[in-house]
Amino acid sequence: MEKIFATARLSELLPKVKAFVLNELLWLETEHHSRSTAETYALLDSMREKVKAAGLWGLHLPKNEGGWGLTLCEFGQISEALALTPFYGHYTFNCQAPDIGNMELLSKFGSEEQKKKFLHPLLEGKIRSCFAMTEPEYAGSNPTRLATTATRKGDTYILNGHKWFTSSADGAAFAIVMAVTNPTAPPHQRASMIIVPTNTRGFSHIRKIPVFGEAGAGWASHSEIRFENCEVPVTNLIGEEGSGFKLAQERLGPGRIHHCMRWIGIAEKAFDLMCKRAASREMEEGVMLGEKQFIQGFIAESRVEIDAARLLVLRTASSIDADGAAASRNQISGIKFFTANMMLKVLDRSIQVHGAMGLSDGTMLATIYQHERGARIWDGADEVHKQSLALSILKEYGLDIKKKKRSV
Ligand SMILES: Cc1cc2nc3c(=O)[nH]c(=O)nc-3n(C[C@H](O)[C@H](O)[C@H](O)COP(=O)(O)OP(=O)(O)OC[C@H]3O[C@@H](n4cnc5c(N)ncnc54)[C@H](O)[C@@H]3O)c2cc1C
Repeated sequence: MEKIFATARLSELLPKVKAFVLNELLWLETEHHSRSTAETYALLDSMREKVKAAGLWGLHLPKNEGGWGLTLCEFGQISEALALTPFYGHYTFNCQAPDIGNMELLSKFGSEEQKKKFLHPLLEGKIRSCFAMTEPEYAGSNPTRLATTATRKGDTYILNGHKWFTSSADGAAFAIVMAVTNPTAPPHQRASMIIVPTNTRGFSHIRKIPVFGEAGAGWASHSEIRFENCEVPVTNLIGEEGSGFKLAQERLGPGRIHHCMRWIGIAEKAFDLMCKRAASREMEEGVMLGEKQFIQGFIAESRVEIDAARLLVLRTASSIDADGAAASRNQISGIKFFTANMMLKVLDRSIQVHGAMGLSDGTMLATIYQHERGARIWDGADEVHKQSLALSILKEYGLDIKKKKRSV
């Protein structure tokens, strides 16, 4: 725990969470590659009961939803601990993406009816959800070009459209869908977020998309889906019509802290494995790999880069806690690309230090890399965040590039 970000309740909770992860969950990794999906989820369901019994359920929830009311900065440090076993930690504690973002959204902006029908079963871990925004035909980096429509007809919306990379859609009970409801409004006021139960007629789950050759299953998968005259009641609209982008920003601000702190946990895990290997792999009689200066460079650079990322992310979390996501926009952009790249660099170094073993199933490194390479793409590609940060900085220097483009 970073002392400057420590609080009394975190000092009480964090050791308990870490102990749970190390004692109850870490062993699951030993058979990660041979266990079937059904066996894994059955095991995790029993682990979820243990989390509840230990009084550790709902750590990310506000007090009015039966949670601890932790700040983003406090929960971020819990999230790092859960990532010591990234395939099991967050899921077992029911704070896995994309559900955690959907829970936060519905808790803040959902109607009483939506909370009862969708949020509460989600909080109890009885159902899962997904978030469908990206479309194969249009650049996800410019979501104002969305083509999925939700047309109002009486008391219903009729959705038509095509989405992909909808994470966790396989087995989800509902999707929060970003769809155009107001096509003639200014670009950022055209779309709305609408809850679509996945058993609605016209909702089709087309396929799970293989990532680096692996399609995954359940929560750990990404799907292509279609809406064909898919009709839902207007009461499934979240917030106001046309508020989709505003809600997306609200959802993504804290969401990026969750991702970044998870990546820091992953980097710590990779770092630990790298150091253990460097200290134990004998290169010639009596000479360990860690005695080579290249490897010492990997270790020293990784240590400082992980610590730097953690300080940056927790500073950003504190800023969101104090001033909100909108006021912390630049910091949020900065941590997204900085932490994603740091995590991938540390993972890559750790794989390198393990040699051929690093690419095998002998450690979790290759599997984690396969699942996390997308970090530089999802929730805004690196280049988009860098551009957004640079534009904001240059504006302070009197160069308003967005305004200049609008006037051309
Ligand atoms: C594993 C994974 C899970 C995902 N989960 C979800 C999900 O649950 N729900 C959902 O809706 N979406 C999800 N996505 C989609 C993700 O949000 C999009 O992939 C992302 O927004 C980028 O959109 P795109 O793939 O259409 O790439 P494009 O927008 O076509 O961009 C392609 C590349 O162009 C470059 N680029 C883009 N803009 C600029 C710029 N301004 N300047 C310079 N270069 C630029 C970047 O390198 C970018 O990677 C997921 C993606 C992945 C990989």
